[in-house]
Amino acid sequence: MHAPPEGGSAPARRPLPQPSSSHDVLVVGGGVIGLVTAWRAAQRGLRTAVADPAPGGGAARVAAGMLAAVTELHYGEEALLGLNLAAARGYASFVEELEEASGQSVGFRACGTLAVALDADDRAQLRDLHGLQRGLGLESQWLTGRECRRLEPLLAPGVRGGLRVDGDHQVDPRLLASALLRAAERAGVVFHRQWAESLSVRAGRATGVRLTDGTGIHAEQTVVAGGSLSGRLAGLPAEVLPPVRPVKGQVLRLRVPKGLAPFLSRTVRAVVRGGQVYLVPRESGELVIGATSEELGWDTTVTAGGVYQLLRDAHELVPGVTELPLTETSAGLRPGSPDNAPLLGPTALPGLLLATGHHRNGVLLTPVTGDALAEALTTGELTPEARPFSPDRFAGPVNRAASTPRQRSTQ
Ligand SMILES: Cc1cc2nc3c(=O)[nH]c(=O)nc-3n(C[C@H](O)[C@H](O)[C@H](O)COP(=O)(O)OP(=O)(O)OC[C@H]3O[C@@H](n4cnc5c(N)ncnc54)[C@H](O)[C@@H]3O)c2cc1C
Repeated sequence: MHAPPEGGSAPARRPLPQPSSSHDVLVVGGGVIGLVTAWRAAQRGLRTAVADPAPGGGAARVAAGMLAAVTELHYGEEALLGLNLAAARGYASFVEELEEASGQSVGFRACGTLAVALDADDRAQLRDLHGLQRGLGLESQWLTGRECRRLEPLLAPGVRGGLRVDGDHQVDPRLLASALLRAAERAGVVFHRQWAESLSVRAGRATGVRLTDGTGIHAEQTVVAGGSLSGRLAGLPAEVLPPVRPVKGQVLRLRVPKGLAPFLSRTVRAVVRGGQVYLVPRESGELVIGATSEELGWDTTVTAGGVYQLLRDAHELVPGVTELPLTETSAGLRPGSPDNAPLLGPTALPGLLLATGHHRNGVLLTPVTGDALAEALTTGELTPEARPFSPDRFAGPVNRAASTPRQRSTQ
């Protein structure tokens, strides 16, 4: 790979190789996707390890945590919808199991979502989305502006209508990552708190990785779950290199003082002048406002323009937001893929699997990814709902070159 430079000066010389250790499964990357994979694999009795200098971090530190299978539907993503809906259906029971296994809350709120429009163009776009949703048999209800404001009295008076989607909930991704880390530790997962520098391949088979300190980690099966960095692990043969790219998102965190609660009772999102903005109110009083969508490589700078855009659009939607204390600004990288869907399961290189490319739905897709990868690691087969997301669909240089990013994402 490469591990991003660490800011300070580079080490004078390379450390001597350390003795190897061996596992059934090694997961490269300890974001929510790597952690759920490791936890589920360990539950199936596999001796599992994770390599990551800071497990529990990654994009989940920034993400809003909307579980938005229905409101995030885009044209051309019907296959992904099936996976998203499967994840949404199983989320509550996944949360129950994870909270039990970790002893920690993940801040799941079954609060639903209201998607609103502020002008005639936005309203037409939302009407169109409603038609698509209904055509696919999804549950969403059209409301007038007045009905929207009855549900959420702090909405701007100009709201022209909206969609009430009672099945799109939310979770706190930071708490989710922390609980997954704890559950994985309790299940016996070993953590190598270092960057994996390169994949080891012997006799046409992936055999583990070499860490930055030179230690060789041997594993029967290696899962690359490195988020937006997944394609940068050195030693990955070209034919299995995941076509994943970083998609930057900036997010604001505000605090609703106790006296003002409930500020909003559900997630509220909107199309404002063609752009998207969402406000996610947590039980704790935190209000998350997101998110920009920028193709700028691995840059994670919070910019004045990003903060301005989010505040301007959120203020147009819910004017009271500008009265709230702003507690944090942050930027993270979604692991984007050419069709906005994840790459799950075995690759053409024996012993190598992928769990990456979750783009704007990685928090939602955490439970189904854990199940799919655990199944693949133990039986060689993906779960039925995950089969359309095999990395095979991008096999071959022609397909890779032809794959271009779809539309702008919002989450
Ligand atoms: C602004 C924003 C808003 C979002 N909102 C939502 C939302 O509302 N709902 C939703 O479902 N999703 C949302 N997402 C998407 C979601 O956060 C991601 O899809 C998900 O977190 C990806 O998880 P991951 O584990 O695949 O990757 P990451 O979180 O990127 O984790 C990858 C990990 O791998 C490690 N790593 C990489 N390479 C190596 C290596 N060589 N060696 C060791 N470790 C390595 C990294 O250190 C990192 O810890 C949002 C994302 C952003 C940025």
